[in-house]
Amino acid sequence: MCLYAWMQIRNNLDAFKNERILGKAAAMPHPTEFGEGHKMQFGMPTLLETNTFESCAALCRELGLGFVELNMNLPQYQLDAIDVSYFKRIAAQYGIGCTIHLDENLNVSDFNPYIAEGYRRTVRETIGICKTLEIPILTMHFPRGVYFTLPEGKTYLFSAYRHRYLESILDFRVMCEEAIGDSGIMICIENSNGFLPFQKEAICLLLESPVFGLTYDIGHNHSCGGLDEPFIMQNKGKLRHMHVHDAQDGKDHLALGSGALELNAYLALAEATGCRVVLETKTAEGLKQSQRWVRKNGFMA
Ligand SMILES: [Zn+2]
Repeated sequence: MCLYAWMQIRNNLDAFKNERILGKAAAMPHPTEFGEGHKMQFGMPTLLETNTFESCAALCRELGLGFVELNMNLPQYQLDAIDVSYFKRIAAQYGIGCTIHLDENLNVSDFNPYIAEGYRRTVRETIGICKTLEIPILTMHFPRGVYFTLPEGKTYLFSAYRHRYLESILDFRVMCEEAIGDSGIMICIENSNGFLPFQKEAICLLLESPVFGLTYDIGHNHSCGGLDEPFIMQNKGKLRHMHVHDAQDGKDHLALGSGALELNAYLALAEATGCRVVLETKTAEGLKQSQRWVRKNGFMA
């Protein structure tokens, strides 16, 4: 069967499922439960300095932030290391929530079926944890995969084997829809170094589904020369989460106010689109400086 015919069948099936999910989603509030007195909900990333969930939660509360983004690249946030009852207790004790940043190596389209299934299983089981801990957003990077260097330039294998690649993306979409059901959880694709055409095609297939959205990382966009902003803005209606850090001269993850980004405009975009915002610096000092900046500029009470 050609890919087009196969996709039509799949889309019809998805349309039926989406109707069911959208019907439920329409009755739910927009995913923006802003903290008390906050115009927007700000959160912090997992820092190397705060290497336990409790130390993250304590700093999050001290700074008046609403959530910690658990980074699943770290050993303490692997599926077999997350004790949900402990996380639930700490989150309640400090009055904070969580979002999740999936492993950056995650490649659900890997041509090695054992590897791909390992990553799919990771996403499925992470969704299960999100349901238990009431985590509304998961962010994932979108890998380019392996390329061959030909005389005329780089050829990415996902582009050369486009049908197989897109089939894996559609399978992943169905798997996520089934796992998420009507829980309202969203998986948001984050930009990192400029989406290539085959990636945009795949992301558009995912964005047709109510369980997928976008995470806009404004520092990454700056570092790659603004390559991702047009695609993000074309799909502004699917923007649900932002990673905000300052950047200048190819350096990003700087504290807010210490770089060249038009932060006021980006935070206004976050506010208008109902995004949660992670102040994505890499040090506690950078995070504190960023928190002071959002307060001083009237984005946080
Ligand atoms: Zn980011």
